[in-house]
Amino acid sequence: MKDFHCRDAGMKCDFVARGSSDQEILDQAGRHAQQTHNLPMSKDLEQRVRGLIHDEDSDAHRRSMSAKP
Ligand SMILES: [Zn+2]
Repeated sequence: MKDFHCRDAGMKCDFVARGSSDQEILDQAGRHAQQTHNLPMSKDLEQRVRGLIHDEDSDAHRRSMSAKP
C-alpha cells in the first residue's frame, strides 16, 4: 500500500490517504483538499501530492508518522 500524508504538504492536518495506486490516493486527497482545506485540486497541487506519495514501508513514511504537525 502507498499513502499520502496531508501534513507532508505543509498542512497542520492528520489526514492520510491510502491506496494501491497513485490515482486512488489522488482522488482521496483531491476530495479532502476541497472539503477540508477549501483547495481545489489543480495541476500544481496534483504534482505536489504525487511527489509526496510513498510506500507504507518506506523511510519517508516512518518520518511522516513521527513528525509533529
Ligand atoms: Zn488535510
